[in-house]
Amino acid sequence: MLVATPIGNLGDLSPRAVEALATAELICCEDTRRTGRLLLAAGIDGPALRRVDAHTETEAAADVVARVLTGATVAVVTDAGTPGVSDPGARLVRAVLDAGGEVTTVPGPVAAVAAVVASGLDTSRFTVDGFLPRKGPERAARLAELAVERRTVALYEAPDRVAATLADLAAACGDEREAVVARELTKLHEEHRRGSLAALAAGAAADPPRGEVVIVVGGAPAAGAGGDDDVRIALRAARDRGLGPGRAAAEVAAALGRSRREVYALALADGDEPGADEADGGDPDGDDPDGTADASAGTATDADATSDQHAGGTR
Ligand code: SAM
Repeated sequence: MLVATPIGNLGDLSPRAVEALATAELICCEDTRRTGRLLLAAGIDGPALRRVDAHTETEAAADVVARVLTGATVAVVTDAGTPGVSDPGARLVRAVLDAGGEVTTVPGPVAAVAAVVASGLDTSRFTVDGFLPRKGPERAARLAELAVERRTVALYEAPDRVAATLADLAAACGDEREAVVARELTKLHEEHRRGSLAALAAGAAADPPRGEVVIVVGGAPAAGAGGDDDVRIALRAARDRGLGPGRAAAEVAAALGRSRREVYALALADGDEPGADEADGGDPDGDDPDGTADASAGTATDADATSDQHAGGTR
């Protein structure tokens, strides 16, 4: 049973969560001391605690499955919020289901959802994108996806990286894209900073937010999905990050599921100089627009093979 716990305010521990934790035979948790304090505060005494974190989840799965199959109730909690949301839980769920066991949930706080619903941004479609990759081509590729993402996006981020991530988001999505930095949700110093990505990035650099933070980014303006307007927005963002036309075309084509040849042609039509990529390892003369010679771009060469990068809902 997945049991959500507070993201800061103990009052958000639901009566159902208290009952589930009090009656479980075993509670799997990331940090036994932290969960022990939660149980104490809730007046719960008795259930055994077992540490199951991101590193030990797979090895713990066999034991959890065995207990569930004998009819025991095993509760799974994390340090805060809902298990399985940028937290351990999903692998245990998969293992129990694969073994024919039952999984239920006691729903409750999710920091990303709390931030989105209070953001003032469109909540009709949103995605929880977890933490951005910290660096490298994975981070660049995710930022390129976000540049054209229509849905509101919630991102988790460590406080000391918020300013840098907002700056990267502004470069990728455009300075004017609306966003919110939601800090210390449900706690004494809860704060929602609203504004453009550029303004929020400048604010975070001057006055770094302390405590826990969710960044909510408004969706990209509507246009034909994956159409030329999307390509232009994404190309501009990639060029703003210093990529030449070949590298930018490879990255954008992969993110949008378009052919690199078409994207490269759009880049040139919009004024990029062919050959300017020599410095960044891209396609110097534009005669390899499908990227087969550009291993450094780190993207698939078949546009169709990458066209589902946006598939699925929340991640
Ligand atoms: N499973 C959790 C959930 O349901 O929200 C998320 C766990 S993730 C490892 C931790 C991240 O959640 C933090 O780095 C921060 O981005 C966000 N977070 C957790 N509590 C928060 C709070 N009270 N206010 C703002 N962000 C919070």
